[in-house]
Amino acid sequence: MEYTYPKFFYDFQCTASECSDTCCAGWGIAIDPVSLKKYKKYEGDFGNRLRNSINWKEKTFEQYEGRCAFLNEENLCDIYTEAGSHMLCKTCTRYPRHYEEYENLREISLSLSCPTAAELILGSDEKMMFVSEYRETPEEEYKDFDFFLFTKLQEIRDYLYEVIQNRELSIEFRMALVLAVMHDLQSRIDRKHLYAVDELLERYRKSAFLNTAKKKFEGYTGQGVERRLQLRKMWNRLYRLEVLKPTWTKFLKKQENRLYRELSQEEYEEACAEFASYYKDKEYEYEQLLMYFVFTYFCGAVYDEDAFSKVKLAVVSTILIRELDLAVWLEKGKKFTFEDQIEIVHSYAREVEHSDPNLEAMEYMMAEEEIFTLEKLLTGILG
Ligand code: SF4
Repeated sequence: MEYTYPKFFYDFQCTASECSDTCCAGWGIAIDPVSLKKYKKYEGDFGNRLRNSINWKEKTFEQYEGRCAFLNEENLCDIYTEAGSHMLCKTCTRYPRHYEEYENLREISLSLSCPTAAELILGSDEKMMFVSEYRETPEEEYKDFDFFLFTKLQEIRDYLYEVIQNRELSIEFRMALVLAVMHDLQSRIDRKHLYAVDELLERYRKSAFLNTAKKKFEGYTGQGVERRLQLRKMWNRLYRLEVLKPTWTKFLKKQENRLYRELSQEEYEEACAEFASYYKDKEYEYEQLLMYFVFTYFCGAVYDEDAFSKVKLAVVSTILIRELDLAVWLEKGKKFTFEDQIEIVHSYAREVEHSDPNLEAMEYMMAEEEIFTLEKLLTGILG
């Protein structure tokens, strides 16, 4: 079977007790059936503790004050230290590795919700690259897997990577372009005109197409008030999601007030321009975020045929993270460190991306809500 992962994948090392926001607190950890069976049978005092510290109905570890029942005072896992690493459940063994499963292919990413993984994803200005290798694992055949659609999605994703990593274009232009192109391609996917994809990709790669796009995008610029309104509406959708850490909502509200209530339109626009120039050398962080989201989720469209929503999710998440960055930069007296960025990014990912119901709710909003149409999003990006 083929395995694909980012080049930095094997540089990851869990910082365990040193972690600034351990993954063993703040959310319910789901236990897989095989581990549940092992925990049922484990002998001795620790076996009793195991059985008493599992919510058997929910199939999760019990939590005390938001912390996993096995997370000790040194922030280390008692299952690991008392019973050995082989007794960890699948979630704990894998995290922060995230697997997307396709027929005969596994794509593995490091989840942005882990602060150490987030440092690897954003910490280098090198363009993100991926490694593919074959491993001696059994081949798999998925019933109803649309292999032709999957290969087309892979080709489209390669093109999206090219755009996202084209540093001759502004980050706003790159976001606008991937959305516009995907809007076009989605209509071909809907009409089952997949044979047209190759020709379209060839056209998109021509400089004449870039010039046409530039001209079209001009129609969306200079709409400062609408842009701010659109961003605020997008921000407000975050309140509809299930909250994992109550401090998250407080943080969102505080920063929302700062950007969209306390500042006048003129002050807001000045702050946007000043922050963009302050953070120009770190703009690659937004590129890495886009790459992360597109790599992780885009090809999942083979199961629901909704590739456009996956790209919207990538762009919307990146824009909202940049708005949060702007707010925190203002809060800190126009200073913003890498640590601030990691705090924002991993918290966003933990709340929005790392909860299945929230991810589903986001995808639903991207597909169904008027504020996430191409026109509205272009206004929010270029306005
Ligand atoms: S969040 Fe990441 S670094 Fe922290 S304990 Fe979990 S896996 Fe380790």
